[in-house]
Amino acid sequence: MDPFRLVINGKKIPTGKCFEVLNPADEKVAGLAPLARKKDLDAAVGAAERAFEKWRDVPEARRQAACMKIASKIEKNAEELAQLLTREQGKPLNGLGSRWEIGGAVAWTRYTASLSLPVKVLQDNNEGRVELHRKPIGVVGSITPWNFPVLIAIWHIIPAVLSGNTVICKPSPFTPLSTLRLIELMNEVLPKGVVNCIAGKDKLGAAMASHEGIGKIVFTGSCATGQKIMANAAETMKRLTLELGGNDAGIVLGDVDPGEIAEGLFWGAFINGGQTCAALKRLYVHDDVYDDVCDELVAFARKMKIGKGSAEDVVIGPVQNERQYDIVAGLVRNAKRKGRVLLGGNPAKLRRKLGEKGYFYPPTIIADLDNGDRLVDEEQFGPVLPVIRYRRVEEAIDKANDNPNGLGGSVWSRNVDKARKIASRMECGSVWINKHGMIQPNAPFGGVKRSGFGVEFAEEGLQEYTDIQVVFS
Ligand code: NAD
Repeated sequence: MDPFRLVINGKKIPTGKCFEVLNPADEKVAGLAPLARKKDLDAAVGAAERAFEKWRDVPEARRQAACMKIASKIEKNAEELAQLLTREQGKPLNGLGSRWEIGGAVAWTRYTASLSLPVKVLQDNNEGRVELHRKPIGVVGSITPWNFPVLIAIWHIIPAVLSGNTVICKPSPFTPLSTLRLIELMNEVLPKGVVNCIAGKDKLGAAMASHEGIGKIVFTGSCATGQKIMANAAETMKRLTLELGGNDAGIVLGDVDPGEIAEGLFWGAFINGGQTCAALKRLYVHDDVYDDVCDELVAFARKMKIGKGSAEDVVIGPVQNERQYDIVAGLVRNAKRKGRVLLGGNPAKLRRKLGEKGYFYPPTIIADLDNGDRLVDEEQFGPVLPVIRYRRVEEAIDKANDNPNGLGGSVWSRNVDKARKIASRMECGSVWINKHGMIQPNAPFGGVKRSGFGVEFAEEGLQEYTDIQVVFS
């Protein structure tokens, strides 16, 4: 098995040491990733600094054209990337899986490439002219998680290079292979050093956060790591965008048609096997429809095919890694003491069916839990949904907001006006009515409270990769 290589200064660089990346569907080696050392990080920063000197002055239209070419490159290599992604991440090829993620990467790249950062004239009169310019920051460090490795790398890299920065990306050690390949492809289009990729373990990310040569870190991952990055970045006063964990609440009002919303609720919660930052992670259901919503949700979930992501008819794959599997299993064990298991909850049967290997956990729905129970209070980041009964809407809003996270939320009702009023009281960066987690490239996305700060996507997201310079004349 040939090891993958780092991508530094436009070249594929082998390293002395490699590490194994496991396929979560069979626990076999999916590929060998190069293990970058501090000297590789320094080389990548040096290359990115040199590239920045020229890239910053490339006219915006040419940078946009380069990003459009990247989109076409990804599109041409979509199937190879999707297969690799399924092998290392576990997600199915079909459904909302790898092919969908790569398609999303193409769409996001194209949309972002169409954005621009024009000079804004703040004043132009006898007193003088005042212009607001957006200037690239320099070298951007991108640190990504394992749930959507390709899409999240695109979300970090494309706006950074479009606005004139250069980038060093460090993918998660659980899923570095598709990102390394993605960045090889980008380097077929971009000048050398504009986008570099170094794979390694967590301490490589920590070294990036404190590196003198890096001006900004864009990070997607857990709250705990986000806090460490903030602390490490303080000394060099780095700009930060932190997209952290979520524990999104959905509030179902008493007027819904349970059969109609079951599919939306299911995919809101179980997209990517629940390993999605803005997935529905706590469901508050009004007493009037509680039993019916539970029944319809379970009936819909039973129809979903779980298995190895490489099988064309599978729509839910395994949990991505053993550490996450243990978190999910522990939370379910704890929830079973009080809650009523409506579906799943016992992985042994599924694992037997699928050959004992692989981190398979069945979609699990547990009713009759409440705030104060661990499965409700903590982010499960897996295929498990707690359902909570409520009687007064005020009570549901209070409980939804009673959490340190504030990424997304949703309200489900036939009365959209009423739902919008409730939505406006939810403490989260995005809120959906009668759907959950539908992000799009033309709408800013980010968290409030401990889900982080800064936004991605749209013009507001692009601005995050710039410093303001005001010119008075
Ligand atoms: P993680 O924080 O463990 O790791 C994310 C990345 O950070 C990896 O590349 C890792 O190597 C690196 N890292 C680890 N320690 C570091 C340190 N001290 N300094 C710098 N980098 C370090 O997260 P994960 O387990 O990969 O992802 C799951 C979490 O990510 C969940 O909490 C989920 O909600 C969150 N997430 C958030 C979003 C969002 O947009 N808000 C999107 C996806 C995932």
